[in-house]
Amino acid sequence: MATPPAFLSLAEAAADPACGARAARLAQLGDAGLPVPRAVILPPEAVSAIAAGASPPALPGDMFPVVAIRSSPEVAGWGGPPALLNVGASAVTHSALSARVGEALASEVRRRSIQTYADRVLGLDPVDFDPAPGADAARALRDALSLFEAETGASWPKVPAAQLALALRAMAQEWAAPTARMLRQARGAPEAAGLALIVQEMVIGLGADGGAGQVQTVDGDTGERCILGRFLPEAEGPETRRSLRAPRMLTASARVAAKQVAPSLEDTQPHTVEALTSLTETAARAFGDEMQLDFVVEAGQVAILDAAPVRRSAEGAIRIAVDLAERGIIARRQALLMADPEMLTDMLHPQIDPLARRDVIGRGLAASPGAAAGVLAFSAEAVLALEARGEPAILARLETNPEDIRAMHAAAGALTVRGGMTSHAAVIARGLGRPCVVGAADMALDPAGEALMASDGRRFGAGAWITVDGTRGEVLAGEAAMRAPAPGPAFHTLLSWADAVRRLGVRANADTGADAETARKLGADGIGLCRTEHMFFEGDRLDLMRAMILAEGEGGRAEARETLRVRHTADLAQLFQAVPGQPVAVRLLDPPLHEFLPAHASDIARLADATGQSVEAITTRIAHLREFNPMLGRRGVRLGIAVPEIYDMQIRAILEAAASAPGDVVPDIMIPLVSALREVELISTRVAAIAAGLEDAPQYRLGVMIETPRGALRAGDIARASAFLSFGTNDLTQMTYGLSRDDAGRFMGTYIAEGVFRDDPFHTLDTDGVGELLTLAVERGLAGNPEAEIGLCGEHGGDPASIAFCHARGFDYVSCSPFRVPGARLSAAQAAIRAGESPG
Ligand code: PEP
Ligand code: MG
Repeated sequence: MATPPAFLSLAEAAADPACGARAARLAQLGDAGLPVPRAVILPPEAVSAIAAGASPPALPGDMFPVVAIRSSPEVAGWGGPPALLNVGASAVTHSALSARVGEALASEVRRRSIQTYADRVLGLDPVDFDPAPGADAARALRDALSLFEAETGASWPKVPAAQLALALRAMAQEWAAPTARMLRQARGAPEAAGLALIVQEMVIGLGADGGAGQVQTVDGDTGERCILGRFLPEAEGPETRRSLRAPRMLTASARVAAKQVAPSLEDTQPHTVEALTSLTETAARAFGDEMQLDFVVEAGQVAILDAAPVRRSAEGAIRIAVDLAERGIIARRQALLMADPEMLTDMLHPQIDPLARRDVIGRGLAASPGAAAGVLAFSAEAVLALEARGEPAILARLETNPEDIRAMHAAAGALTVRGGMTSHAAVIARGLGRPCVVGAADMALDPAGEALMASDGRRFGAGAWITVDGTRGEVLAGEAAMRAPAPGPAFHTLLSWADAVRRLGVRANADTGADAETARKLGADGIGLCRTEHMFFEGDRLDLMRAMILAEGEGGRAEARETLRVRHTADLAQLFQAVPGQPVAVRLLDPPLHEFLPAHASDIARLADATGQSVEAITTRIAHLREFNPMLGRRGVRLGIAVPEIYDMQIRAILEAAASAPGDVVPDIMIPLVSALREVELISTRVAAIAAGLEDAPQYRLGVMIETPRGALRAGDIARASAFLSFGTNDLTQMTYGLSRDDAGRFMGTYIAEGVFRDDPFHTLDTDGVGELLTLAVERGLAGNPEAEIGLCGEHGGDPASIAFCHARGFDYVSCSPFRVPGARLSAAQAAIRAGESPG
């Protein structure tokens, strides 16, 4: 025979996760000494048994027999029936109740219990149970009792236990009803999800000096300490949130600010506000967090019914965490774990005001955080023209290419219909700190490239205003209201704590002196990747690069190369100067040469004009450079070996720039796309020869990027010739999966939805596959050269989970876009704390 349903104590329920967080919170509040009304818990198996017809247990004899019944689902998001209040208020309990709250109020409580039951359980119209105009409480109660009898043919139970049985069964059956089950299953609840019920002594907040409300002592938006909340006189619990009556303010100053005429709680009951403030502090200490308390006041006495962490913005969350640690409520270590690294990144960028209306016209990948509104522009020229007029531009393209870099600098934000998390637009936007959405495949550009077609068919032409939300990956019509970035003092305090506990270095991917300067200000430990090709798209460098590629004979080529070298040296010197005393890894040219040449006829014609070469000659050269799979073609070190003059020019520029910079700069020369030791040896010989030919050559370190699967497998012997191994996980992911980083956006959503990928592997490192290659390469690399420094400079270097992986595998550093550096510093600290390495 099944055991009959029985109540658990709060302590017993707290030990059983099935009884839900609400019950556990009540127990914790009570343990901390907060005035929590006496409660017992009906566990889920008892609730199911009651729904199936079992008799509910009797209340413990020493409990006041008028109670509230509240849901406590195992997971808060699963919902649960709303509370039933005043259960047990009846003829039998009347005298006890009126001794406590007075005759009239006791009748009113009884009337309300009938009204709630008639409404919630019997589906009768609650308005019919309202008191008749002018009726006193006793008369209103008599009317309600008669109406109940008339409607149901039965009299309202007098015995509290009978009422309790009805109420418990009603709530149990509400949970078991097919619609409720379907609803919670849609929210992710399993088929057999259970509900615990809290049966708690009723606090009667209906009388004079009575009411209910919420209180918190911090503003979740800003993290500032102040008393916030609301109070509804003559109310009985958190259900006041749904009341149509206007709540009162808690403090006089809040009342003045809200221009409210009705007195605040502080005006009428200053001692209650004082008590609430001190209870909130006690709750913060008990939970190690700022809590919002649900309270009821009966005749000036406060009772606490529930507590929940204060809702907070990114800024608020950081300030709260730091403040809690500074007040000694939590350890710094806990404050570091409380903060979300992505929040730090968000705080560096403008965001859409959470209260703003969002007219979403397309969705894609959240490629670079922050939001920007601007005028739609479909070409680099249009962006630059808008910039000249001082108007913000949003660059919208099918995909961007290196020629768009100048426009991306000038644009307020960018949007591409194609592309993945490591596509050109995504990488550049993150580096520049520009909001960007890529792979917005539900949008289209019209064939003429003059309009953006929204997912709902709306058409937005050049000049229309749109907003790009790179934090959420959404495109909005019009100019959404923005919030300015606000990294306050708490931001810096938290990061200084993070720096004290992290072991992993955090460097930045920065391509120019200005980027490097930003990175240094954001706390980077150096530059882990300078993609030098980006320097060649700046100023007159592109023309020189093109002249070098297109020159007919060696004489012309050498001349262009020499001018480019001088510019390159100056650009690199700026980079070294921006981060004095820190490591700087300069990567030799990576992309195939055709990327520097125009693709469109009009651009080719313009280039022909500028260089004096014929369109045919240029077209022939472009055709000559074309490859079937440029990403797997003559790029990276292959270009360096096949066309050595370019690398020679760069190597000399790096060494001379380092020699000219103040202090002893030891540049890290980084070779991309290495997959064999011989490649390193060939470049190493050239570097040594160039250094030997310089009068004043600085010390340097030569290292490689491991970004091909063969490079990873052969890391053991490659490391013997390398001072450092830096994993280029963008290419390594692309090549391990055989998945184009520029095209993955098209089906990424489907792949994640179907569970093929847990996350976008270009965003969060695929620890199973790519991660295994990394683990193996680190092991082999260190066996080949125990001194080799190990880093990662793909986009994963800014992702918290990937950073934790690097920490666990003993990496020396990660390198990410400058604006992700603060988040990466925090992630590195969290990884150290979680690994038990921090005493903090
Ligand atoms: C990489 O492949 O991870 C990398 C950092 O290089 P890029 O993104 O420039 O190819
Ligand atoms: Mg790469």
